[in-house]
Amino acid sequence: MPQTVECLNCGSSIASTDIFCPECGHRQTGSTGDPTTGHDQPQTAAPASPPPLQPQYPPQPNTNGKAVASMVTGIVSLVVPFVGIVTGPLAIVLAARARTEIRQTSQKGDGLAITGLVTGILGCIGYGIFLLIIIIGALAGAGSASPL
Ligand SMILES: [Zn+2]
Repeated sequence: MPQTVECLNCGSSIASTDIFCPECGHRQTGSTGDPTTGHDQPQTAAPASPPPLQPQYPPQPNTNGKAVASMVTGIVSLVVPFVGIVTGPLAIVLAARARTEIRQTSQKGDGLAITGLVTGILGCIGYGIFLLIIIIGALAGAGSASPL
């Protein structure tokens, strides 16, 4: 039993085997089968590779530069002899300014500033006292410099 299809041109029921419509003579293109069968879904393009992981430094919560400088100068004032007399007060000032900036900008580095403050005070006072003792000793030695 032949299947009937509609003419692509006039819509008349014609045999599916007919190449030309008997009514209008329009050529029936293609087979009666669905020409779109076998049409696979186009494969979606491969998902983009994940973006390369780049270390992101958030701009706001960075470490306060003065706090770092304060800690460095504070440690230097402790480690390097006699330099603490100069770098100790510098570390203290830097620590004070750093803590003020940290409070205002919510930066990191408060611990560094405190470290700089403590080491600066220790370096300044420590070597200050040490130098004072030397000076006093020298003065005392000079004063008591009795002829042997
Ligand atoms: Zn027709």
